[in-house]
Order: sequence, then structure tokens, then C-alpha cells
Amino acid sequence: METKYLFVTGGVVSSLGKGIISSSLACLLKARGYRVTIQKFDPYINIDPGTLNPYEHGECYVTVDGHEADLDLGHYERFTNIRTTRANNVTTGRIYQSVIDKERRGDYLGKTVQIIPHITDEIKRNVMALGKTGNFDFVITEIGGVVGDIESLPFLEAVRQLRWELEDNCLCIHLTYVPFIAAAKELKTKPTQHSVKELQHLGIQPDVLVLRTEHDIPVTMRKKIAQFCNVAPDAVVQSRDASSIYKVPMLMHEQHLDEIVLRKVGIVPQGEPDLGPWREFLTKMDKATEKVTIGLVGKYVELQDAYKSINEALFQCATYLDRKLDLRYIHSEKLNGGNVDAQLEGLDGVIIAPGFGQRGIEGKFVALEWCRTHDVPTFGICLGMQCMVIEFARNVLGLTEANSTEMNHMTPDNVIDLMEEQKSIHNMGGTMRLGAYRCHLDPSSHAAAAYGSTEVEERHRHRFEFNNEYRARFEEAGMKCVGENPDTHLVEVVELPDHRWYIGTQYHPEYSSTVLAPSPLFMDFVKSAISYQKEKEQING
Ligand code: GLN
Repeated sequence: METKYLFVTGGVVSSLGKGIISSSLACLLKARGYRVTIQKFDPYINIDPGTLNPYEHGECYVTVDGHEADLDLGHYERFTNIRTTRANNVTTGRIYQSVIDKERRGDYLGKTVQIIPHITDEIKRNVMALGKTGNFDFVITEIGGVVGDIESLPFLEAVRQLRWELEDNCLCIHLTYVPFIAAAKELKTKPTQHSVKELQHLGIQPDVLVLRTEHDIPVTMRKKIAQFCNVAPDAVVQSRDASSIYKVPMLMHEQHLDEIVLRKVGIVPQGEPDLGPWREFLTKMDKATEKVTIGLVGKYVELQDAYKSINEALFQCATYLDRKLDLRYIHSEKLNGGNVDAQLEGLDGVIIAPGFGQRGIEGKFVALEWCRTHDVPTFGICLGMQCMVIEFARNVLGLTEANSTEMNHMTPDNVIDLMEEQKSIHNMGGTMRLGAYRCHLDPSSHAAAAYGSTEVEERHRHRFEFNNEYRARFEEAGMKCVGENPDTHLVEVVELPDHRWYIGTQYHPEYSSTVLAPSPLFMDFVKSAISYQKEKEQING
């Protein structure tokens, strides 16, 4: 079949969940047996979000091919099990960079280079790139930002043109907001009408409207919206706040969003999507009553999205293990010897978060010393793993000044140091060790048992590494380097084998954890937290 292009735009306000709607639709189409991919176009000028601080756009997600991506790509993968790549996330910066490179090469043969047609053509080429591979029946394209933003205009113009070029092989889904005015006890449709008008003004007639709402929107009101917005009444669906994002595919299916979309692109829906495993996951989620309490020690704790993939990986695993996740954020900047007991007591497991820079680092060492000496299941990820190494060097090897050269480049014991290939790099953007690398695990290690394999591949995002000159001293004292890159011998996993669960990974296993294929290492960590909880209960009677 010819590739169908589904565009998802947003109106009224941001943060309505375009990423979740796109992912849910992809999940449903995939469950119907179609080959689906999702891509995101971000209207900002940064080439990629890798240089953005998490306060700006939340977590930076990493694809297997080493692209630093918008966190929505994480949702795409978690909802669909597909593997995204650099081609699935394009920014205005990338579009302009490519056009300017072509101009410098002389590719435009003396023409004046303009937003229309050159920028819009470049956007169109990128929109079509994945579809042209022939690997997909559906390409869902999420346009970042809100209709009406100056920055989104070239993208919407490209969508407008593509709707003519692609004829029946494309459609536009517009997500808007229907606010509830508490004082008047009324839902209001006007912002939606205005937002659709704005889209129509740009030459785009949406085919489907998804209305984000906190309250049920009565059928009469949906009909009214359909009428005012020139949309078929059955193509107006609501997206009510759900207790979990993973329920949204079901909520969309109940309102036939997948069937509406199929019909609109000329496909007669056959049967039902196979949502069996997804439903089982949701049933477990709803049934779980007992908790597992995990502490996440990091410096971006006031920001929900900063550790998105870790939260989701923990949630998925807790759910499969019939537990409700009780995730407690612990501010590493505020943690010290005086309050660590109170802060960490009662946790069943602790995660030491990834990160960059000095801020909050000492709190991570305090947490790690406490976890190591109290033998609490502890998982260090990336910077968290590096902190495990530093804490062990300081407090077990007696190297009191040990550090990462990221934090102190004068340290006498650089147990974590800049990777050789990083030393000559000055540009910050896209130059870390990024993407999936192979890792060989010691067959007798806890990590290998967790994976059920000695050969794994996980994604990286870092510049610093374990300094192999110290390896023998660590191993003698009990910290084993159990995971290693087979080509470069970089240490990827450390563990304390005599502890319940004390593992640090230089890589980020959270990026590859999905609803239908949760990360084995996270699963094992949560399992260990649950058995630790049970042990404590037995002791306390
Ligand atoms: N700042 C550390 C490094 O660059 C760790 C990075 C991370 O935690 N993602 O190596």
C-alpha cells in the first residue's frame, strides 16, 4: 500500500499531549498490523535538544543511532516498540543548516534562497524521507509548538502543500483544549473554534479534532464544535485526563480514532487491533495495591520531565511486578550527612540519576555511602555510576581527593576521566559518546543474570569514563568492572557482588524500556527492591 501521512498539530496551548496522542494512534495502528513510524518536527533553532538544559524541554532522549532527541521520541518508542533514529526528529535549526549548506555549495544555481520554496521544500523532503524508504504504511508527523506561533509557520505551510501533493494519502489531526471554567461550571468551545480558524487561515482544514479536556464533553457540544469547525461529527473525539498515559490508546480506540483515521485515508478497517498484551499491562496497573518505594537522587527533582525515561522504566517494571510505584524525588543539593538517614530511611531502592556538572554532586556521594553501608538496592546511571566509583574510591580505597575531572580537573586521583577521543573536542553539540554500543558482561555477574545474557547493547550519552588505570585496585577492594565494551575496553558496568543489588551502568538502560518490552536491568532492580522490602517487613514483624 502507498504510505499514508498523518499530521498532528496543536492549538490553544502547549503541553496538551500531542506526543501521547500521536503515540497512542501509532500504538493502535501497529496493533492492527500496520508498519508505523512517528517523527517530530520542532520549531526551535537549536540543531538538536542535546545542548538544552532539562529546565527548557525536559529530558534529552537518545536514539540508537546516537541522536540527541526530543523526549517525545521516548514516548513513541515506549508506546510502539519501534526504534527511532535521527530521521525521526528534525528541528528548524537542522532545516536551515541544510539549506544554508546547499546555498554555500552553490546548489541553488544563483537563485535567491527563501523560506518559500527553499525552507518549505527542505521540510517536505524531511517529512517524506522515512516514507520513501518503503518501510512504513503510516508516517505520523507531529508538528511541535502551537498553531499561531511565528516559528511553526514554515512547517504548517509545508503541511498545507503536502496535503495537495499527497491527495487522499494524508490527513490532519488537530489537538486543542476545551477549558472548564470552574466559576461558571462550563466547558468552553471558543478557544477550539479560534484555533481551527487559525489553521484554516493558513490553508489547512483539519480532518479530525481531538479535544483535550478535564471533563466529559457532551455529544451536543461535540456536534457544535464539528459544525463550527467544518469537521465531520464522528471525527471529533475527546481526550479526557487519564490516570495513566498508557490508558490513552484504549480511550482513543473506544472512540474509534483508529477506524476514523483508516477510513479517511481510504482503508476499510478489518477486525480489531490486537491489544491483548497492552490490556494485560493495564489490568496489572489497575489491580496493584501494594507499593514499592524508590528514591531518585538528582538535581532536577522539581521538574517532572527531567528524568522521564527513568520514571517510565520504573513504572513499567513495578507494574509487571504487581506493585504501585511510589517514586520519591530526593534533591541531591539538599542531601547531607545530617539529613541522609531521614531522607533515605524506608526506601526499598535508590537510583542515582544521570547529570552534568558539579551542582548537587556531593549529595550523591552522601546518598551512595549511605546506600552502600546500609546495603540498599542501588542503581547508578551514567553520572550516577561515575559517582558510585568516586564514592568507593574515597571511602573504601582511601583516595580522599578522588574525583571526576569533570568536577575537578586538578584531582590527584582521576578515577573518572575524559575519554581519549573527547580531549580534542571543543564543540558541545552532538559530540558526546552517543547511541547504542555493545557491552560484554562477565557471565558470573549480577548484571548478566539480570539480562539473561552476556552480550547486550545499550545507549550512551557521556564524555567521561572509568579510568582503567585504577581498575585492579577497585577489583581487589570488591568493586568489579563486570561490563566492558569489547572494542574499546571502556568499563560500562560496575557492581558490588557481595551486596543485595549495587550496580552502576555507564549507559542508560531506561531509554530502551518499553511497555511491551521493559528493561531487564530495571526489572531486576525493582525485583530486588521488592525482596528487600519483604526482608525488612519480616525483621520488623
Ligand atoms: N557528565 C557525565 C559525562 O559526561 C555523565 C553524563 C550523564 O550522566 N548522562 O560523562
